Amino acid sequence: MQAREIFDSYLTRNRMRRTSERYAVMEAALLRPGLFCADDLHKALSGSSMRVSVATVYNTLDLLCKCSLVMRHKLNGHDQLLYERILPAQTADTRLLLICRLCGKVKRLPAPRLGDIASPARTGTFSADSFCGYIYGYCRSCQRLLKQDNYYNK
Ligand SMILES: [Zn+2]
Repeated sequence: MQAREIFDSYLTRNRMRRTSERYAVMEAALLRPGLFCADDLHKALSGSSMRVSVATVYNTLDLLCKCSLVMRHKLNGHDQLLYERILPAQTADTRLLLICRLCGKVKRLPAPRLGDIASPARTGTFSADSFCGYIYGYCRSCQRLLKQDNYYNK
């Protein structure tokens, strides 16, 4: 099933309006590779002919999370929620994010295969279809900064 059909079906099932603004937000979100915040998406949409409010962007991202087209991340060191698309073909996708505690930089790592993490031996009868893990630490530049400045002894 394509993303639009999944979103259509979700809106119809929940008796929600299928507005062109919601579809514009969905398309913009699914075109973005990597992590993004709602403000980034709102700015990108402001450049188009479609006028979409910030509230509509946030509300639509919530809906997209509910129908598993977008994943929401609340990372330590980031004030804003971050979002990431989940393409229908990637339902067995895995995500492993490295997050720098000092500068907040986020890097995505190639994650192990889902079967390695969520084998039937570990999950029993639970049917796993995705994985997301966060690893916190310090990026190379921040490690250098910490060594030079003896950051924690100030
Ligand atoms: Zn850093």
